Amino acid sequence: DEKKPDKWVFSTCGYCGVGCGLYIGVKDGRAVYTKGNPKHFVNKGTLCPKGLSEHQLINSPERVTTPLIKKNGELVYASWEDSYKKVADEFKRIAKEHGEKAVGVISTGQLLTEEFYTLGKFVQLGLKTNNYDGNTTLCMSSAVMGYKQSLGSDGPVGSYEDFEKANTIILVGANISDNHPILKLHIAKNKNHPKIIVIDPRSSKTAQMADIFVPLKPRTDLALFNGLAYIIMEQGWEDEAYIKANTNGYKELKKHLQNYPPQEVVNITGIDVKTLYELARQFASGDSVLTAWTMGVNQSFMGTDTVSAIVNLHLLTAQIGKEGAGPFSITGQCNAMGTRESGFTSSLPGYRNFGDKAALKEYAAIVNVPVEIVPLERGYKYAEIIDAIDRGEIKALWVVATNPLVSFVNQEKLRKTLAKLDLLVVQDAFMSDTAEIADVVFAAATWGEKEGTYTNSERRCNRANKAVEPLGNTKSDFDIIVDFSKYFHGVHELLFNHWKKPLDAFNEFKEITRGQLCDYSGMTYELMEEHGGIQWPCNEDRPLGTKRLYSSDIPFRTPDKKANLICADWFPMAEPICSEFPLILNTGRTVEQWHTRTKTRSIEILDNLAPEAWVDVNPKDARKLEVKSGDRISLSSARGRVEGVVVRVTNSVASGNVFVPFHFNTQLVNALTNESFCPKSGEPNFKQTAIQLHSK
Ligand code: SF4
Repeated sequence: DEKKPDKWVFSTCGYCGVGCGLYIGVKDGRAVYTKGNPKHFVNKGTLCPKGLSEHQLINSPERVTTPLIKKNGELVYASWEDSYKKVADEFKRIAKEHGEKAVGVISTGQLLTEEFYTLGKFVQLGLKTNNYDGNTTLCMSSAVMGYKQSLGSDGPVGSYEDFEKANTIILVGANISDNHPILKLHIAKNKNHPKIIVIDPRSSKTAQMADIFVPLKPRTDLALFNGLAYIIMEQGWEDEAYIKANTNGYKELKKHLQNYPPQEVVNITGIDVKTLYELARQFASGDSVLTAWTMGVNQSFMGTDTVSAIVNLHLLTAQIGKEGAGPFSITGQCNAMGTRESGFTSSLPGYRNFGDKAALKEYAAIVNVPVEIVPLERGYKYAEIIDAIDRGEIKALWVVATNPLVSFVNQEKLRKTLAKLDLLVVQDAFMSDTAEIADVVFAAATWGEKEGTYTNSERRCNRANKAVEPLGNTKSDFDIIVDFSKYFHGVHELLFNHWKKPLDAFNEFKEITRGQLCDYSGMTYELMEEHGGIQWPCNEDRPLGTKRLYSSDIPFRTPDKKANLICADWFPMAEPICSEFPLILNTGRTVEQWHTRTKTRSIEILDNLAPEAWVDVNPKDARKLEVKSGDRISLSSARGRVEGVVVRVTNSVASGNVFVPFHFNTQLVNALTNESFCPKSGEPNFKQTAIQLHSK
């Protein structure tokens, strides 16, 4: 076989948060094959279509192969030196004229932990701006903040093994069949024949495998969970001993829940009383109950409190800290977790809280920098950075490996806002929509061309190795950042002295986490390869990591080691439907494409399988509109219009609701979405937008 690899390189998939183990096949210095690692616990040799074709992204024709600088409106080839100098000169001018915080940075859960930590350290301690956030705020920041307010710390509670052990598996707003397909392997291995409950307004592929499908009205999830907690208390189904020993806020919650009696919850959610009692009974009677969720919960203007309302149910029934049980946020990106832990976005590195002076001092001492340069407070979150650009407060933006011009809400406004910048720098391996309007492009190496670690949804840190050399004149993100730091007086010497390779960043990061909940101090690259990843905390006492948090030997991370039962309020939709826009648009993903398709659109097999967006329309609404499957229609909202989207008439959406995948810049559904955000997490409410369909 002319493509038969000369060697196979151990690695981890760089797309989603499942974290499948794989090998990259290399022939004559080119990546020619990807195959699953049969010994890997996460995927046992299987891969989804994206993983199977992953090597193809390395040789994509859409790769940026050299730095680019805009001249006379055109991006033209430039040297690294000229590109660094131009950006450094502008950052320095802007800092001098408007202050250091007039530079904003948006990064990504696609970076390796070593790169993310290096970037955060440079931005916060070198550029001295805390207006720094990740695209993870569009994805799972509600889970972060929900965990923090309920359990005292961020950190996924359980393991994929819990999908194999639970008696009841509840999936909320989580279409794992499309978005985390390999997770289904772990459900299939469950010998308890678990009851599968899917809570979702849409009958997705995942809903079709449910024993109980709960098609609640859009954005009523928080009311549902409060209603279930009410019933559990009303029936005396709670675990009093556990609550007394391990939680605060029981009395307050009981009083608060008087606003959520069953009939009220029926009115809000559209779910009948019998089903409500059955769901509550599952929590109370199941030996082990696992509730997993993704974007349907997180991408909500009540996202943080909805997460806490789920956690409340697990605390009330003691379904946490034991095999097969617990609340489980499935993360979106391959390294969403690593970026949460290596920090400088929602926390300081190692889960140290912003505002905690002792933690700040501790961090400064470990990395040997003056404490004054460590930011005391978190700066603007993603959407606040965009608003600050709009106001003229932020003058330069550095976007690293993310593509806001497809992924953020209200695209027309965003495009106008970005045009106000003095300087837009995009660091990416692909010519993304955002890179196209940049003033400078830093040409990055991609997955397979660089090395480091990713941490998946179950806290498993795994190794991603370099299989081939970076294409053309590209560099790893680690090298880009470390080299760029040399253009700022004294910064390289202070922050990255003697740093030569990602392992130097990893070793520093390990020290930062020593003794913290997210303890990586016992990990080595070799151990990760040997065991197919290690779950933190991993230290001398736990050399092979830890399966689940909050069992008897890992207390909650609050001052009194008790979890908080949170009084969370449900509110009606942020943008109600009206006569002009009478339908609710839900957005999501499909298994064949990855987020804004910068990586997947040029992979032939994936593009053939899912070449364009579509709109799911209920038969009743299709009849009213006089359209059938295969017709093309337009969608409009108060903010924009999307033309020529192909119709699929289906009962998977209820009448009054439609669904469109968000991946496609050709049918840009985020032109329609609105600007409502969770006030605690900053996460956008992507999931409900009032729209109209137009058949002409
Ligand atoms: Fe990669 Fe996720 Fe697919 Fe696994 S399920 S191969 S991690 S995209």
